[in-house]
Amino acid sequence: MSHIVARVVFALSVFCQVSSASAEWQQPSVERQEIAVTLLPSDHLLIGESTITFAADLHRVILKLSPTAHIESVSTSGAKSPFTFADGTLSLDIPSSAGPGAISVTVAYRAVFNDPLPQHPGSSEYPTYGVNGSISTLGTFLGEGAGWYPATSGTPRHRTVRITAPAGIEALTAGRRVSRVTVGGFSHSSWEESRPVGGLTLCAGPYRIEERRVAGVDLYTYFYPDNASLSSRYLAAAARYIALYSDLFGPYPFEKFAVVENFLPTGYGFPSFTLLGSSIIRLPFIIDTSFPHEIAHSWWGNAIQVDQSEGNWSEALVTYLADYLLKERRSSAEGRDYRMQILTDYAGLVTPDNDFPLSGFISRIDPASRAIGYGKGAMIFHMIRSEIGDRAFFGALREICRERLYRSASWSDFVRAFSRSSGRDLSSFMKQWLTRTGGPRLALSKVTRRREGPDWTVSGTVMQSPPLYALLLQLRLETDGQPVRELLQVTGGMTAFTISSPSEPRQLSLDPDSEVFRVLAKDEIPVTVNSIKASKQLLGVMTEECQARVETFRLLLESLGQGRAAVIGEDQLDATRIQGHDLLFCGVPKQRSLLPRLPAGIALHGKEFSVQDDVMKAPDGLLFLVQQHPASSERVAALFQPLSEAAAEQYAPKITHYGKYGSLTFTRGAIRHKSTIMPTAGATSVRF
Ligand SMILES: [Zn+2]
Repeated sequence: MSHIVARVVFALSVFCQVSSASAEWQQPSVERQEIAVTLLPSDHLLIGESTITFAADLHRVILKLSPTAHIESVSTSGAKSPFTFADGTLSLDIPSSAGPGAISVTVAYRAVFNDPLPQHPGSSEYPTYGVNGSISTLGTFLGEGAGWYPATSGTPRHRTVRITAPAGIEALTAGRRVSRVTVGGFSHSSWEESRPVGGLTLCAGPYRIEERRVAGVDLYTYFYPDNASLSSRYLAAAARYIALYSDLFGPYPFEKFAVVENFLPTGYGFPSFTLLGSSIIRLPFIIDTSFPHEIAHSWWGNAIQVDQSEGNWSEALVTYLADYLLKERRSSAEGRDYRMQILTDYAGLVTPDNDFPLSGFISRIDPASRAIGYGKGAMIFHMIRSEIGDRAFFGALREICRERLYRSASWSDFVRAFSRSSGRDLSSFMKQWLTRTGGPRLALSKVTRRREGPDWTVSGTVMQSPPLYALLLQLRLETDGQPVRELLQVTGGMTAFTISSPSEPRQLSLDPDSEVFRVLAKDEIPVTVNSIKASKQLLGVMTEECQARVETFRLLLESLGQGRAAVIGEDQLDATRIQGHDLLFCGVPKQRSLLPRLPAGIALHGKEFSVQDDVMKAPDGLLFLVQQHPASSERVAALFQPLSEAAAEQYAPKITHYGKYGSLTFTRGAIRHKSTIMPTAGATSVRF
C-alpha cells in the first residue's frame, strides 16, 4: 500500500454519493419514454431520438436537454411542431387539435459531449471529476446532468433505451438488458426499466462482459480487457452481498446489478449499477469495503431516494449497514474500533466553525462533513439499534423498504418506523441527534470505592455539560475478577450511580466500547501510529533488549516520516530528555516505568509476547504499541518490539500503513492484530 492507495480510498468514500430526486418544474405525468441513441466516439458525437408519451390534457411541454444540443425536429403525435430551444430548455405548445387522449412528443437531436478530462484526477472533490458528459475513444460517461436525452420533470412510468455504438464498444444504462447484438459493424443493446427511478446515466467502452443470474437477478461485469480476469470475483461478491442484504431488507429492488469500469477513478452508485475506476477495481480490499457499500445503496439511496428536506440519511445508513456492520460481523473488537474511529474523526475534524446538524447534511464536501454525515449519522443508527434491539431495528428497515420503495423517504419516515416497530415514541430521542450540532460531553466525577462486608461498592456521578442529551450509557468496572457492566440512563447534568462488585475494583470506564455518539475530550482521543508520525519532537531509544540493528530502527523512523529524529541508548536518557520528547523505544526499557501499563489483553514476557491469548515466540513476530507518555498527557510513548532482527527487517516497513491504529502485531509475514486503544487517563476513566 502507499499514499496513492490511501488517497484513492479517501477519494472513493468522497465520491460515493447517490443522486437524489428533484422536481423543479411541474408537468403532467409521463406514461413512457423511449430513447434511442447512437454513439460515435471518434467525433464525441451522440445522435438521438426520443418519444415521450404524456397523460391526457396537455397544453405545453417543457423538456431539458444539453444546451449545446442541435434539435433536428420535434413532432407531436406524428405531426411536425414548432418549438423553442434556449439554455437547455425545449418548449412547445400542444395544439388543441391533438385531442383529449395521450399525447406523444418525438424529439430528434444531436449533441457533442467532450468535457475536458481532469489532469490530476486523484485530487478532485467531485464524484465525476467535473465530467458530466464525455464520449471518446477512452470511454463514454453521460451522467444524468449532461442532458444526453430530453428529460421530463417527473420520472416516466416506463422507460426504454436503445444504444448503438461501433462494434467492440459495449454500452450500458439502467434497467434490464433486453437484447444485445453486434451486426453490420455496430453493437446494439436495449434496456428496459419496469420501475424507473430518477435520471439516466449511460456508460460505454471496449468492455468484456461477464454475466450470471443469481436468485432472479442478472449480474454483470463490464470491464476493460486488462481487468476482465477480476470479473468472477466481483460476480461472486455481488451475489454474496445481494443475498446478505436481501435477507436483511427484502428483495433486491432492480432487474440487474452491474459493476462497470470507468476511465475516471470514480466510485459512484446508480440504480442497478456501480461505476468503479480502473485503478479502484484492482485494489484488493475494495471488493469487501466500498463494493458492499455501493450494493447497500441499491436499497438506500437508489430504490428509496432521499427526501432532502430533512437532510440526507442515506450515507449514514449505508455506512452503518456496510462499512460498519460487516466489521461487526467479523468480530466485536473490529466493530468497537470502527465506532471509536468515528468518535476520533469527529473530535479531530469538526469544530464549532464547520459543524452542522445532521438535518443539514446534503453531501460530503470535505472531511468534516464526512465525519458528520457519514460518521455521526452511522452512530445514530447504532444507538437506535442498541435502544430497540435487532428485531425492531431490522424490522423497521424492512417496513420502510416495503412502503417507500421507488419513492423517497425522510428522517421522519425512519423515526416513525423505528417507533412503530419498537412500540416506543422515539421522536424526542431522535430529534436531539438530528437537529443539534455537536454532541454530549460526558465525564466521571467524585468516583469512590469502599468495602462493604465481603463486597465492594463504587459510586460516583456522570457529569454532562449542556445542552443535555438523554442517552443510555454503559459503565464498566474492571476488577480482580470478572468485569461488571452497568447500563445507566443519563438525562440530566448529573446522574449518580452505584455499582457493586464481589472482587476488588481496579478501573471504572465510561462508555468503554464507544456505544454512544459523544464529543471526546482531548485526553480521550486514542494515540496511534499517526501520533508518532505527527510528533514534532520524537526521540528514538535503543534499549539493551532491542532485537533490531540500529540501521533497521532508523529505517523505521524514516518510514514514519521521522528520519531526522535522534536515536540514543537507554543509558543516555535523562529526565529532561524524557519530559521534552515523544518516545519510541526499541525493546522494553530497563526502567519499566518509562512505558505506560500495557493495555488489557497484551502481555510481554522475555522473548515472547501475547495478544488476547495469542502467544508469539521468537524469532517470528513483532509488536508495535503507541500509548500516552507516562509523564505528559500531551505526549506519546511507543514500543517497537521485534522478536528477532529478521522480524524487525520484515515488519518494520509495514507499520506506517496502519496509521489509525495504536496496537499492531505481525507474524507469519502479515498483520495479525490491529486495534485502537482507548486512553485510560482522562475524565472518562478512573483507576483505583
Ligand atoms: Zn455512499
